[in-house]
Amino acid sequence: MDVGAINRGGRPQPRVLLRRIREVLAADQPADARLQEIVEVTATNMVAEVCSVYLVAPDQRLVLQATEGLNPASIGRAALDIGDGLVGRIASTGEPINTDDAPNTPGFRLIPGIGEEMYQSFLGAPIRRQGRTLGVLVVQNRTHRRYGEDEVEALELIATVIAEMTDSGALAGGQNGLKSGEQGPLMLRGVGAAEGVAMGRVVLHEPKIVLQNPIADDLETERVRLHAAMDAVRGDIDRLISGEGQSSRQRADQLLRPGEHRDVLEAFRLVAHDRGWLRRLEAAVAGGLAAEAAVEKVQSEARARLERTADPYLRERLSDVDDLANRLLRMLLGVAPPSPEQLPEDAILLARTLGPGELLEYGQSRLRGVALEEGSAGGHAAIVARALEIPLVTGLKGLIHAAEADEPIIIDGDVGRALLRPDGSVSAAYQEKLTLRAQEAALFKTLRDQPAVSKDGVKLSLMMNAGLVTDLPGIAESGAEGVGLYRTELQYLVTTRAPRRERQTQLYERVLDAAGDKPVVFRTLDMGGDKQLPFLKGEAEDNPALGWRAIRIALDRPLLFRMQLQALIRAAAGRSLSVMFPMIANAEEFHRAKELIEVERMRHVSEGREPPREIRVGAMLETPALVFAPDSFYREADFVSVGGNDLLQFCFAADRGNPRVADRYDPLDGAFLRLLRAVVERCEAAGTPLSFCGEAAGRPLEAIALAALGFRSLSMRPAGIGPVKRAYRAVDLGEARVALMALLASDADSVRPGLAAICEEMGVKL
Ligand code: PEP
Ligand code: MG
Repeated sequence: MDVGAINRGGRPQPRVLLRRIREVLAADQPADARLQEIVEVTATNMVAEVCSVYLVAPDQRLVLQATEGLNPASIGRAALDIGDGLVGRIASTGEPINTDDAPNTPGFRLIPGIGEEMYQSFLGAPIRRQGRTLGVLVVQNRTHRRYGEDEVEALELIATVIAEMTDSGALAGGQNGLKSGEQGPLMLRGVGAAEGVAMGRVVLHEPKIVLQNPIADDLETERVRLHAAMDAVRGDIDRLISGEGQSSRQRADQLLRPGEHRDVLEAFRLVAHDRGWLRRLEAAVAGGLAAEAAVEKVQSEARARLERTADPYLRERLSDVDDLANRLLRMLLGVAPPSPEQLPEDAILLARTLGPGELLEYGQSRLRGVALEEGSAGGHAAIVARALEIPLVTGLKGLIHAAEADEPIIIDGDVGRALLRPDGSVSAAYQEKLTLRAQEAALFKTLRDQPAVSKDGVKLSLMMNAGLVTDLPGIAESGAEGVGLYRTELQYLVTTRAPRRERQTQLYERVLDAAGDKPVVFRTLDMGGDKQLPFLKGEAEDNPALGWRAIRIALDRPLLFRMQLQALIRAAAGRSLSVMFPMIANAEEFHRAKELIEVERMRHVSEGREPPREIRVGAMLETPALVFAPDSFYREADFVSVGGNDLLQFCFAADRGNPRVADRYDPLDGAFLRLLRAVVERCEAAGTPLSFCGEAAGRPLEAIALAALGFRSLSMRPAGIGPVKRAYRAVDLGEARVALMALLASDADSVRPGLAAICEEMGVKL
């Protein structure tokens, strides 16, 4: 044993230990012998009776890979699930555990035969790299001993080195996880967050680095490198914000999207200037890590903290943390980021997380698709991807590690799948699908200026849903008759400050200008629930979907609401203005909200300003209660629009954001259709115009069912208009209605199979 590695003072000597580990790594020996030597020198240095490494195996179990002090016969055999026992808990939370009484610590479980019965104290740290858990490093002692902070820090430093070396293959022995360099096809399941299929080549958003030497040769050199990189990155961000040094096209881009881009960068600047970051980075370098390894250590720890928070705003900051770490690593390594101009024409972007601003920066022109390891269908990147019509699949764990830049990949946003290095037959099948879609798109173009009239002459209004400035060209391209739902909150989801009234006014003016003489229905801010606005944080709620949201917030805190109404009234001077309120649950809420519009209209006039030519005020019907509201509600509303996404979730008590239940109940279920029929009847009785603006409206069979129930206006994503129009023009609506009523009188839960069969008989293409 090298005496230099022995801890004589009872305190850990991380620099001595790291130096010793570097020698171990430099020696020519097999991977498992190296790892064994590392646990031995660590145990000695930390005066621990046990030091063990568990690594995640391909079956996602943690397997004992090396140990000093436990039964050597258990190596390669003893295993436990992630989340199981103290070791499993460290792997699942990404947080260290430090206890002087392991057997009585929640979650403790003895692994039979491993020989750890007599050890009381336990300190474990995760071995993580770039958001992936690779394993766990543990030290144990017989006595009841609480490890000091410096010991925790030392163990984390060693865990960082092990993580780097495991990923570079120096320690893994080919055991853990998906390894890059595997050349065969790989299919991963995720969640389809923006529809569509894309074929192309891998572009890695994050630099893929394998550190040859995570241990510092010279502390002062590393400290200077770190500071220089930090200064350079901060300077870059400041310049990006001030617009200096950018091409005129980039500046014009930012002008085109007032606010949304700049505010994202401002939030990022706050993260970059956070003093805590630099302090933690300096500590890691002082402990003996190279600057790059220090960045990865601090990034891993920040991620572990943010991943555990339930606050959606803080979770969105994950992408800022990753972005900052990536910029630092690039700076340290001298690697340039992929710029939108240099992307291949068929780029499929792979990232762990992606902020909405970053996605906008890449733009639509070359990006064919996006695949994310994290993120959700309701996340901000997904909102932007849908607006840009870029297919997006999220939740693809392990994809980045498995992929190399430029490799062929297919992503399928319709079913939530990524196919890396697909084999010839799969590629051919997808190519065929894309060709077919391109032919259909050409056909839908020819239908663009044709009306949506059924075979028996019933006209249907097809409108589009929108919410970002980037959506506006869709009005002309899709052939929509107008915007049936403008989700005003989307613009604010990608900013960090409450938008000022003037900015809102400009934005709404641009929307009205883009629509020309076509109608636009503005929905007032629908926040809360799954849409947490960064600048309006409420208290954490057990059931946000049923909580303080949408019109409830607007009526309780009318300041923001009134500012929005003022902006809408100003923007629509001399024009027609249609406004609707989200999540109305009873007549009283609608009445109070409508009165506020009248107050603002009168104030506007009293200030000598030109008012809108007319103001139409409607309600979104998203709660089953409103179906049965008093007649006075239906008389007072100028129009009603069914928010089918929320109405479905509340009808079946099934969270629309939870993948386990979101698709469990069919919008063509008889129960839901009977509820909708009641809405049609109430609106007909009161003479109130009615439309439907949930996702279901954009699917041909659902659209036919809605028309057969009596809806004459549907609002959908622009890409749905072509397929719905083609199907509707082929249908005899009278016949479809008779068939639907018969199905609703039958015992079937869902009318889907019956209605689809009838449409097929009529030759309707669904
Ligand atoms: C709906 O609920 O159907 C709707 C259109 O609104 P959102 O999806 O924005 O909640
Ligand atoms: Mg809704």
